[in-house]
Amino acid sequence: MPDSLRYVTERLPESGETITVAPGVLWLRMPLPFRLNHINLWLLEDGDGWTIVDTGIALDNVKEAWEKIFATHFTKRSVKRVIVTHFHPDHMGLAGWLTERFGVELWATLGEWACGRMISLDTGEGILKILRRFYHEAGFGADRMALVEKRRARYAQQVSPIPARHRRIDDGETIEIGGRDWRIIVGSGHSPEHACLYCADLGVLISGDQILPRISPNVSVWPQEPEANPLRRYLDSLELFRGLPAKVLVLPSHDTPFTGLETRLDQLAHHHDDRLDDTLVACTEPSTAVDVLGRLFKRQLDDHELFFAIGESLAHLHFLMAGGGIERRRRDDGVHLFRRADAR
Ligand SMILES: [Zn+2]
Repeated sequence: MPDSLRYVTERLPESGETITVAPGVLWLRMPLPFRLNHINLWLLEDGDGWTIVDTGIALDNVKEAWEKIFATHFTKRSVKRVIVTHFHPDHMGLAGWLTERFGVELWATLGEWACGRMISLDTGEGILKILRRFYHEAGFGADRMALVEKRRARYAQQVSPIPARHRRIDDGETIEIGGRDWRIIVGSGHSPEHACLYCADLGVLISGDQILPRISPNVSVWPQEPEANPLRRYLDSLELFRGLPAKVLVLPSHDTPFTGLETRLDQLAHHHDDRLDDTLVACTEPSTAVDVLGRLFKRQLDDHELFFAIGESLAHLHFLMAGGGIERRRRDDGVHLFRRADAR
């Protein structure tokens, strides 16, 4: 039987403080301006320097927290590189600021770097048209459409300029950091080519947002790829982590380090099974993605969460469509209606 989930620490690092979680692996926690109010970042001892893993969102209070880290940790060792697990603003937000400041390279998968770079620059009328069409098809009314207008440059506002060059990392590649080998495991579904880092020597997995302990990582269809099936990719990706040693210490981007990876993989898969059942029930009658959202998310969502929730509803709908369980048709006004294939 797999080990149950266990959190290995009760203490959380204060702003600008670090906690050592494994030899040469330091845990930092940075503020986030959402209901999910923090992100975990990692500093890896790297010979006479540091490798930074993930960077925080581009806000002044995050920069201030970094300044405290610079003053306490970066006086004897400087920064050698910045590795970013994926392009989301809490992860890639200060990559440009950090790489510029220390004159080092951004290391990321091609897919993540390219997405970050593209979305941060793609803020014109063209993308606004794409957003409007996508959320109209999902069933947004006029009130929610007003929120869509504000999203055109939202990513760009949350990141310092994404570097125009990068050092590509690939699935299966091994990076030597401080005399230890870290293997890159690339997952998908939460983001296109999400890099996790596994060190067999330490028994540590930096899981980013691919595997989180308490909440289920967001798996969404986004306007730039409206026909995507990210839930298929996400569930397939969970399998990449089976077979890692039972004692592996998982370092997630939110919440605290934990053991019991196998159990968590099972829980995440089950969570989506339940969600898929709910989605099917919601589609007994022809339903828009907004209707399905109302069934999947019972609590009141803030504006930020609304966009994750609609993307997540579409992810479950598209997964079921790919398997033939749900059919989609276009209403005369262009809105998509989903219905169980067996509900005729
Ligand atoms: Zn993320």
